[in-house]
Order: sequence, then structure tokens, then C-alpha cells
Amino acid sequence: MDQETFSALRETVQRFVSERLVPNEDRLESEDAVPLEIIQEMRELGLFGLSIPEEYGGLGLNMAEEAEVIYELGRTAFAYRSVIGTTVGIGSQGIVIDGTEAQKREWLPQLASGEKMASFALTEPGAGSDAASIKTKATKDGDVYRLNGTKRYITNAPRAGMFTVMARSEPDVAGPGAITAFIVPAGTKGMSFGKPDKKMGQKGTITTDVIFEDAVVPAANIIGGVPGRGFKTAMKVLDRGRIHLSALASGMSQRLLEEQVRYASERQQFGEKIGSFQLVQALIADSRVDGYASKVMVSDVARRFDAGEKVSADVACTKYFTSEAVGRVADRTVQIFGGAGYMAEYKAERFYRDVRLLRIYEGTSQIQQIIIAKALLREAGLSV
Ligand SMILES: Cc1cc2nc3c(=O)[nH]c(=O)nc-3n(C[C@H](O)[C@H](O)[C@H](O)COP(=O)(O)OP(=O)(O)OC[C@H]3O[C@@H](n4cnc5c(N)ncnc54)[C@H](O)[C@@H]3O)c2cc1C
Repeated sequence: MDQETFSALRETVQRFVSERLVPNEDRLESEDAVPLEIIQEMRELGLFGLSIPEEYGGLGLNMAEEAEVIYELGRTAFAYRSVIGTTVGIGSQGIVIDGTEAQKREWLPQLASGEKMASFALTEPGAGSDAASIKTKATKDGDVYRLNGTKRYITNAPRAGMFTVMARSEPDVAGPGAITAFIVPAGTKGMSFGKPDKKMGQKGTITTDVIFEDAVVPAANIIGGVPGRGFKTAMKVLDRGRIHLSALASGMSQRLLEEQVRYASERQQFGEKIGSFQLVQALIADSRVDGYASKVMVSDVARRFDAGEKVSADVACTKYFTSEAVGRVADRTVQIFGGAGYMAEYKAERFYRDVRLLRIYEGTSQIQQIIIAKALLREAGLSV
């Protein structure tokens, strides 16, 4: 996108966040749902199509541009971003990166407009961090595959129009080479959902189990048309997704820093604003350091991703750092707010719970550490 159009888009999103999303944060929390009119406004702004190429009806942002937009959306309750997150990120990118031309033409325009949402179904009850050990089976039966298995914690499942589903289709192949990525339209017979999960935070987001019982999917719905490539597709999608989440974390670090500064400039104790106490200043300074480092890491890794560099290990560094950093910033925000920081009516408490998820999904902090260390050790010739 040209610089001028992109600047206009970023400003529009900034305004949307401050004028529409932030003022509705309490409503979102109490109703445990993103208001429908806001979802419609997101469609109209083109937010569902951020990462989908222009030729298929999206805005065609590169990673660096997407990260800047997601940074802005990170400055408010995460549930808003979650509505578009799986469509912009993990749910659609399998098709964008590895899909056939026919799959792109069929699905991407509907996703870009927000007419249909996408979900990404990899995790299972017995397979989270060890994603290659998924058990969901896709059994070939003529021109179709029969899917059987359960997927867990699938974001946006009940509102999605299509799913990117990873299943084991090659009985004679061991490990990740047996995994195929399927496009499964919502409403496919044999597919059902569990009850919405009750979560620690991020009110307004939806996750459920997705259950496949002899769900019939045409072989033509294999992403890229070739079985056995699904795990590679999932890993490519997750690299992108981790930069997206890092931008989100980095935006929230900035929001929390602003909350800290505001509160410390207003609250008085011992006859002075608490911001004049150096121990409180230290909490603010450390939060700025975490937020600034996060922003710089995201911008560097996104730029190198766009340039086609091999950045998986640095993507892992960025996801690890930014998600841990926003956890520290949220903790300091609660501390600066004192007793009010523990009270549900203040946002410090809410955001403290909301950001906890970032260290868990799309690869836990431990998994990021393993990716980083293994990349370095392999470079040094160690077989790990
Ligand atoms: C709200 C929410 C939304 C989600 N949305 C989706 C979605 O849309 N689609 C989807 O497919 N998945 C989704 N997930 C799943 C998420 O990606 C997994 O929960 C995550 O990858 C961790 O897997 P797990 O929960 O099975 O934990 P486990 O893998 O069981 O991990 C438990 C602990 O063991 C540690 N551990 C595991 N292996 C190792 C190791 N080798 N070395 C050191 N430590 C290790 C982990 O770091 C963690 O601390 C979502 C999860 C949540 C909570």
C-alpha cells in the first residue's frame, strides 16, 4: 500500500479505537460480547481484509503495515481484535500462503469483506505445544475425506464461516509429514461445537471445542491440493501470527503505560502526587523500557519478514519478549493503582488478566525459548 493511503488508514484506525472501541470497553466487559454494530463497523473499515491481497478484495498490507494497525488495536480491550484476528491471521493465511488459485478465488473475497470469518483448528485435548502429535484423522474415501477428532480452544469457532483444520491423513507416514490442512466450511455435516469456554479474561472472545464425527470434506479442499503439507503450512501461518500477536502486546504495553502516567499524575498520597515518588517513577520507567523495546523488536522483525529473510527464531524472540514484557507492564500498572488496581471496576485489573493469554497461545514462552535456542545450536552444528 502506498505510504499516504497507509497513513490515512492508520489514522482512521486510531480514531476508531479512541472514539468507538475504548468508550465501549465497559459495555463489552459487562455483556461479554463485542457489540454487533461494532463488528459491522469493522467490516466497513476493511479490517477483516487487512492481510488479504488486494486482488482478492483485501487491503493487502505487508507484515510491517499489519503490525502497525494491530498495535493500534492493542491499545484497547483484546476482544475487539479477536473478532478479526483469526480471519486476518491464522484462519486465512494458510490459503493466502499455500492455497490453490481456485481456493483463493472462492474464499478470500468472502473473508476480506468480513461476510465470513475464518477459524484455525490445530490444538487438541492431547496435542497443544506438541502440535505434530495431533490425532484428528482424515480418512480418504474416494473423492472425499472423512474427518474424526476433537479440536480444543478454537477461537471464533461458533461465528466462523470456514475453518482451516489440521488432520492426519497419511496413515503410512509418521510425524508431521502425515498432516494435511483442510478448508472446512461451517455447516459441514458431522461438525459440531462444545459449550463456550469460561476463561480468565478477554471477555467478549469466544473459544469452543470443534468436534468432527465423520465430517465429509472434498479432497479439493486440501490447502494447496497436496496432502501431507499441512504442518508446514501451519508453521508458516504461525510465524506471521506471532508477529501479529507481538504487535498486539506492544500496543497494550503502550496503553498501560498511559494509564500508569495518568493515574500517577492524579493520585495523591503524603500530600503529593504519587508520580513524584521515585519508586513509582521506577515502575513507569521500567514499563517504558519494556514497551519501547517491544515496539522496536516488532518493527525490526516485521520488516525483515517482508524482505523475505529467514526470521523464525527472531519471531520467537519477539513473541517471547513482548508477551512477557506486557505481563510485567500490566503487573506494574496494578501496583501503581494500589488497591484500585485490584478492583474490577478499574481497567488495570482487567487488562492484567487479559494479557496473560499472550504467553500461552500461538506457542507458549517455553516453546519460543526452545525455538530460539535450537536455531542457535543447530547453526553451531549440534543436532537438536
Ligand atoms: C483463549 C485461547 C485461544 C486459543 N485459540 C486457539 C485457536 O484458535 N486455534 C488453535 O488451534 N489453538 C488455540 N489455542 C490453543 C493454544 O495455542 C494452546 O493452548 C497452546 O499452544 C498451549 O498448548 P496446551 O494448552 O496444550 O499446553 P501444553 O502444551 O500442555 O503445555 C503445558 C505447559 O508445558 C510446557 N511445555 C510443553 N512442552 C514443553 C517442552 N517441550 N519444553 C518445556 N515446556 C513445555 C508449556 O510451555 C506449558 O507451560 C487457544 C488457547 C487459548 C487458551
